[in-house]
Amino acid sequence: RNSTPSLLDVKGLTRRFGGLVAVNDVSFSVKPGEIFTVIGPNGAGKSTMFKLIGAFIRPTSGDVVFEGKSLVGLAPHQAAARGVVRTFQETTIYREMTTMETVRTAFHLQCRATSLGAFFNTRQARADEAEANRAAEEILELLQLQHVRHEQAKNLPHGYLRALGIAMALAARPKLLMLDEPFAGMNPEETDAAVQMVRRIRDQGITVMLVEHDMHAVMRISDRIAVLNFGRKIAEGTPQEIQNDQNVIDAYLGQ
Ligand code: ADP
Ligand code: MG
Repeated sequence: RNSTPSLLDVKGLTRRFGGLVAVNDVSFSVKPGEIFTVIGPNGAGKSTMFKLIGAFIRPTSGDVVFEGKSLVGLAPHQAAARGVVRTFQETTIYREMTTMETVRTAFHLQCRATSLGAFFNTRQARADEAEANRAAEEILELLQLQHVRHEQAKNLPHGYLRALGIAMALAARPKLLMLDEPFAGMNPEETDAAVQMVRRIRDQGITVMLVEHDMHAVMRISDRIAVLNFGRKIAEGTPQEIQNDQNVIDAYLGQ
């Protein structure tokens, strides 16, 4: 495993908000194909870490290196173009659109046309259209959304909306998909289905990073886990290592 080059290297990452150090000198690496989870108490810096990795905010110091290149200083859409994508919030989903329309629209939102000439080239547009349709079908199948393809978002149950937000993210062709609390508010059956869904996404070759509080799900799904506490990384390891780590039990799991 150590010989595999990492997909993501977080190096000495620090982010201050005024006097508060929300993320404090954190380093870790994520290997291609892993499910890597960040856990820790409320306010530990997990969401800030995700925003730093996705280039939504800039670090005070340190680096985020993806496929050997720094993402620091890029705009979020540039990080997304490199393959670092986080899920869309449910609030960005149009209530009147159907599942299929939503996923098809997500392809257009990340239009990859390199020039206006290519954009207005109808033959190219038709080929892109066919490709987008095919890819949208694959995404619906992967997330088991085919049977609600013609339902409007406003009529979808909560769990399906969550999946639709992930479907939109997949339309951006991520190499690294970041999910912030994907199982929050789910009952055990919904969580089970969502865990299987995340595994299927990973099996497509997409590396997954999670922030999650549901420890039962975290321990089942994660290949490796990093634990944050007051902005610092206090542990990193396999689920078994993390469950037996006295620092982690004291700071978080023992609560
Ligand atoms: P977590 O996701 O682990 O609950 P966050 O990353 O959201 O934690 O927040 C970490 C700390 O940084 C918290 O104390 C939070 O109040 C603070 N924080 C997060 N974002 C901002 C911001 N934009 N401005 C000021 N403080 C912030
Ligand atoms: Mg958070």
